[in-house]
This record gives sequence, C-alpha cells and structure tokens, in this order.
Amino acid sequence: MSGVGWVQPEPWMVDAVAEALGLERERVESLAKHRTIRFRVFRGILYASLRRELGGYPEGTVVIFGRGWSRVVHGYPPIQRMVLPSVALPRHFVDRIVVEEKLNGYNVRVVLVDGRLLAVTRGGFICPYTTDRIERLLGGRLREMLRELGEEEHVAAGEVIGLENPYTRYYYPEAPRFGYFVFDIFRSGKPLPPRVRDEATEKHGVPHVPVLGVLDKGDIEGFRSIVEALERRGREGVVVKDPEYRVHPLKYTTHATNVGDIRLGMRFFMEEGRGFLFSRLLREIFRAYEQGLQGPRLEKLATEIGLAALEPALETVRLVAAGEPVYEEFELEFENRDRLEEFLEYMQSLGVDVVVAGTYERDGMLVARVRKMRDTWLQVRRMLETGLTPID
Ligand code: ATP
Ligand code: MG
Repeated sequence: MSGVGWVQPEPWMVDAVAEALGLERERVESLAKHRTIRFRVFRGILYASLRRELGGYPEGTVVIFGRGWSRVVHGYPPIQRMVLPSVALPRHFVDRIVVEEKLNGYNVRVVLVDGRLLAVTRGGFICPYTTDRIERLLGGRLREMLRELGEEEHVAAGEVIGLENPYTRYYYPEAPRFGYFVFDIFRSGKPLPPRVRDEATEKHGVPHVPVLGVLDKGDIEGFRSIVEALERRGREGVVVKDPEYRVHPLKYTTHATNVGDIRLGMRFFMEEGRGFLFSRLLREIFRAYEQGLQGPRLEKLATEIGLAALEPALETVRLVAAGEPVYEEFELEFENRDRLEEFLEYMQSLGVDVVVAGTYERDGMLVARVRKMRDTWLQVRRMLETGLTPID
C-alpha cells in the first residue's frame, strides 16, 4: 500500500489499535465510525490517530501498527499559559525553574520505526513534507540519537521553524528556510529533564531550544529581564520547566508576539480574526495591569493594538474590492515532482485547498511556489456584493 491518505479499517486493524490503547474493540469501532480515531496510511505504513484525548492518551496520539506489532506515540500535551508570571511562577513551581526560549513554528514528534524516521504533526498526522526535510537535514544524527537512547521507548519532540513549510512562517536568522530544534525527549511517554535532553542532543549534534537561564522560582526580576531581552529581539517568548519535570511547564509570550499575531490573524479575519483577537487582547490586558500602564503609555498600546487589528483587515477588503484573490503564498522544497504530487494529495486528504503557482530548480531540488486559498476571500466578496454581513 503506497500513498498518503485515509484507509477504511479492516477488522484486524481495529484489533491492533484496541490492544495497543487498552480499549474494547467495539469501542474502537464506534470511535472510528465517529472519526475520533482515524485510520491512515503513510507510504505503506498504517497508523491511527486520536482526534481528542482518550483514556489518558492526549489528542494527537498516534498508533503505528502492522500485523503482530504496534507502536504508540503519545500526543504532545497542551502547555498552560501564564498571564501574570509574578503570581504563577512561585505558585506553580517547586524551587528552581528552567527558562527556555519558545520557538515559533510547529510541533513535530520524530520517531524511528523499523529504521524509518517519521515526523508526526501536533494533530497526529505523519507529514510527508516534514518527514523528508527532517531526514535530509538531520536524519543521520536523529537516528543515531534515538538508537542510542533506545528507539522503541524514545520520541523526540521539537519545533520546526523557518519559512519553507506549509503551516507557519516566521523568519529566524538561525534557520531562515527550515530548522528543527528539539524541546523534549520522551521516554515511554514521559519527558526527560531538560539537562538530559541537552546532553543527548548535543552528543549527536542535534539542535535543541536555547536555555536562557536556570533561576529561583521567586526571581521575578531575573525572569523579567529574560523576557525583555526577547522582546527587544522580536522573539516569541518562553516555556518554563521544572529542572526534573516534577510539574508541567508553563508558557508566556512577549508583547511583540501578541500584537504581531493580531496583525497576522486579521489578514484572514473571517477565519482567524475572532479567536486571535480576544486571546491576544486578554494577554495584553494583564500585561498592562501588571505594568501599571495608564495615560499616554496606555494610549500608545491602544493605538498599537487597534492598528494591528484594523490595518491588515482593511487591506484585505481593499484587495478583494479591486478584484484580487486573497491567499497565502510560500515556497516548499521537494526532491522531485513525485514528492510534490504526494504532498498535494496529502493536503487534499486533510481538506486544505492548495495550488501550485510555479516551480523552479535550486541546487538539484525542486522548489514549488504554493498558494493556500483563504475562505475570507469568498466571504468578503459576498459582503461587498450584498452589503450584508453573515455575523450579527
Ligand atoms: P498548546 O500547546 O497549549 O496546545 P498551541 O498549540 O497553540 O498551544 P503554543 O501556544 O505555540 O501552542 O505553545 C505550545 C507549543 O510551543 C508547543 O506545543 C511547542 O510546539 C512549542 N514550543 C516552542 N518552544 C518550546 C519549548 N522550549 N518547550 C516546549 N514547547 C515549545
Ligand atoms: Mg506555537
């Protein structure tokens, strides 16, 4: 079986998944019918993925299986957000804290199955594009690292950053096109302490997220100066971890990111606007409270947030009014045309509308300019035609 798409589960597949997750086969059958458990194939490898948390397994958990064997890859758990670090840090943590940089990209778990490296995205899909690029960039090193740790029990989790991917695009000078930075190594579903992660990755030349400081949990000044330095560099924020992983991590993002996200989300405001706007506003409300903003400094913040919300949205309306389509465009690198075709098949199976606007060659690789069409375009066009809004 080749290809990258959905499969209709046969009885033995249902049994394999039921056994791997410790569920009744009837339960798996009914969850499959409701598409809570989804069966897929990736280049001949069968797997099932969880659309929500189930029996202690987080959303995005994947079961890779064959006849007589299976491998469970736990979903990456959600990280709770702080709005008031001065309150949250001393309350939540035990004694010391490890402050790591939060890189802005997408979450990818890498597993080694039968000698093949597989890249699993947050939702629990083996992504052909990400799998190939990580293989080309770090295949040998990751394989060596996972083998030495024990490939059966270990999973690397990290952030893919850079501009050349189909999901998120932020420029990083250290990885302008495509980079992979490990932020956790899981052993049988449990994360190893950050120090152990750093030793294992460094030994094999695998990049890991920057550790910005190890502080006392009450050192709010120290924490603040780390965040301010990130703020000046326009970086996303931090994830704070217990040195022994005795409690779960917390995340915090910079003001620059909160406002920058509003700006990005409001470009496609009919799709992302509402969700983006309120959550980012909430973060800024508590930041303004914590910093005691008022008068001219509050007004400056109001203008900044207001423009971030209005400017990109207005620009979109003006583009549509001028008859222009609204889309996202990005470049992706493929080994050959078959891989590009396979990627399009993959995106289509996930219901994402992408078209190839052009291709060119670069160092023996095929680079495709890909466009993701946005629904905001159609909705705004209808609003301009009718003068009516679908939202009260
Ligand atoms: P959540 O993780 O709460 O579901 P989300 O998917 O919206 O939220 P973010 O707000 O970006 O994600 O925050 C969590 C994500 O941050 C992780 O899933 C991971 O992809 C990413 N990340 C970046 N750097 C780190 C790091 N140093 N440690 C852990 N995660 C990190
Ligand atoms: Mg993120």
